[in-house]
Amino acid sequence: MITTRELVKKYGRVAALQGLDLDVPEGSVYGFIGQNGAGKTTTLRILAGLLVPDGGWAEVAGRDVVRDPRGIREVVGYMPDFFGVYDDLRVGEYLLFYAAAYGIRGEPARKLRDDLLELVELGHKREAFVDTLSRGMQQRLCLARALIHDPAVLLLDEPASGLDPLARVEMREILRELCRMGKTIIISSHILSELADLCTHVGMIREGRLLRQGPLGEMLAGDRVRKFILRCNGPAEAALEVIGGWAGTEILNVSAGQVEFSLSGGSADVAALLKAVVGTEAQVVHFAQTEQSLEDTFIQLAREVCSSC
Ligand code: ATP
Repeated sequence: MITTRELVKKYGRVAALQGLDLDVPEGSVYGFIGQNGAGKTTTLRILAGLLVPDGGWAEVAGRDVVRDPRGIREVVGYMPDFFGVYDDLRVGEYLLFYAAAYGIRGEPARKLRDDLLELVELGHKREAFVDTLSRGMQQRLCLARALIHDPAVLLLDEPASGLDPLARVEMREILRELCRMGKTIIISSHILSELADLCTHVGMIREGRLLRQGPLGEMLAGDRVRKFILRCNGPAEAALEVIGGWAGTEILNVSAGQVEFSLSGGSADVAALLKAVVGTEAQVVHFAQTEQSLEDTFIQLAREVCSSC
C-alpha cells in the first residue's frame, strides 16, 4: 500500500532521510518509531505530498508522491503534529471549511460534519470555539479533519503526544475504530508502549534510515536478546558472579536478592547458565524470561547500529 525506496531528503547540510525503504501493507496499522529528529515527520510530509524528496521514490496506493500530487491528496489523510491557531472559528465551522476545500458543501457537508464529530466524540462541542478545546479534543478534531474526504490511508504524526493517559486511551479507541473501517494507518511516535497496543506492524527509523520493520509479533519475538530475572532466597552474589562472567550477558539491574540481565544466545545457553547458577550456593527461587518490549527492541537495534558505525 505504501512503499518508499532509497528515499533521500536534505535540509541544507542536514540529511534528514538517507535512503529510507518502507513497506506498509494494506490494512495495517504501522507504528513508525524513532527518536526526536530521526526523520519521521519528514517521511510523513513526503508521503502526504507536502515535501518533495531529493532522491528515491515513494508511492501511496499506487500513486507516485511527486508525479501525482492530486492522486495523493485523494487517498491520503494527514494529521500533523502541530494543530495551528484558529481564532474565532467554531468546531463545526472548522470542519465545514475543510469539507469545502474538498468540494463538499451544503447538506452533505453538514451530515459529514456531524458524522465525523460523532466518530471523534466531539458532537457536544460543535458550537465551541476551536481555541477553547483541550489538547486531546484538538487532536481528535484534527483527526476528523484528516478524515473529511474518506481517505484510504491515514498518516498520523505523533497523535498521542501531549495527551494525558485518559485522552490517550480515547485516541486509541478511535484509531481502533478506524482500523476496523479498513484504513491503512501510519502512526509516528516515540511513545513505544502506546504503539505496541495498537499496531500490527512496526518500522524503526534512526538518522533517516530504517533499522528494521515487520509484523509486531516478529519484532518482539526475535531472539536477538532476551531479558531474564533471577530471584534468590538470600544474597544473590554467587549467582551474580556466574551471570556476570557468562559470555553474552549484560547485568541490567541488581537489588536485594534479585538480578535482572540480558542474554544473547539460544535456549541451550539459557539452560546452561541456569544450571551453573543453581550449582552455586545461591538459593534460586525464581527464574523467568521477561517480556521483550518495543523499547528494548529499539534500544538494542540502535546499539547494534552504533557499534557497527
Ligand atoms: P520529532 O520526533 O522531533 O518530530 P522527527 O523524527 O519527526 O523528529 P524530522 O522532523 O523529520 O524528525 O527531522 C529530521 C531532521 O531534519 C532533524 O535533524 C531536523 O532537525 C531536520 N529538519 C527538519 N525540518 C527541517 C527544516 N525545515 N529545516 C532544517 N532542518 C530540518
